[in-house]
Amino acid sequence: MVPLVLDAPPRGLSSPSAVDRADLVGRLASWWRGGPRAERDALPWRATRDPWAVLVSEAMLAQTQAARVAERYPEFLAAFPTPRAMAESGVAAVIRAWSGLGYNRRALALFRLAERLVASHGEAVPASLDELLALPGVGPYTARAVLAFAFEERVGVVDTNIARVLARAVAGAPLRPAPAQRLADALVTGPPREWNLALMDFGALVCRARDPRCGSCPLAEHACAWQAARRAGEAVTDPARARSGTAPPAARFVGSDRELRGRLLRAACSGAVRLEAATLSDLDAVRLAALAAALVAEGLLARTEDGALTLPR
Ligand code: SF4
Repeated sequence: MVPLVLDAPPRGLSSPSAVDRADLVGRLASWWRGGPRAERDALPWRATRDPWAVLVSEAMLAQTQAARVAERYPEFLAAFPTPRAMAESGVAAVIRAWSGLGYNRRALALFRLAERLVASHGEAVPASLDELLALPGVGPYTARAVLAFAFEERVGVVDTNIARVLARAVAGAPLRPAPAQRLADALVTGPPREWNLALMDFGALVCRARDPRCGSCPLAEHACAWQAARRAGEAVTDPARARSGTAPPAARFVGSDRELRGRLLRAACSGAVRLEAATLSDLDAVRLAALAAALVAEGLLARTEDGALTLPR
């Protein structure tokens, strides 16, 4: 058994937290293989190791629910199976295909990423962290997701689910991003893709943000630092509270700028739009003009010579 000891005491603990690394990894891996793996492997993006397909799935999953992405991903990927296919389709086709997934800036970012891959990488997705991070719109999470899920690199993929599990089970204390990443990397001992997916699924299904299922958790008795501290009588608040419990409530969608931006873009997907058109005239004209100007500035819409709004060409 190999103890995993944090390199410094996490904030809020008087001594370094230690959990048995092999025990935690073994319990979690056997939980995953014993059931959730088969069910979660049905998610369409898990059928591929193509790095472009992984990038597309991560762009979609960033701000859209998995169930919604599962409906749309196969069709979207079929339309743009390679970076070149996307770049040559043009940005309007990508925005149109993205319609309904929300946060349309991601469609534009994905298109620009495809253009860069074609222009600078011979259409190939690079396999090094530095090169991935140098791509437009690719951050630390996405870069490591590509490395682990497509290239089997030994990196930890720290999304919100994994960060929560690390804070509760391993550290027993809140974790800042850098130590969380170090912990995640240190835990990758088996196949990186499988391990990261297991940890991610565990956070989504068992060690959930608001109501962790500690009663049926395979780590609860011997491999969860937070529960061990509570059993020892230490008053330890949820180490992941900063990420889950105190998150601001989701903003109301109906009537929000986000909804109105979506309406404008959907209208433009069907042809040139005039702001005074019947379908939009129920909206505040000043607000609508400001939202349209922002969409044009971002590159999601363009103006024709006569002032109508269209998808960019
Ligand atoms: S015991 Fe509870 S807090 Fe600890 S890992 Fe399991 S579900 Fe998460």
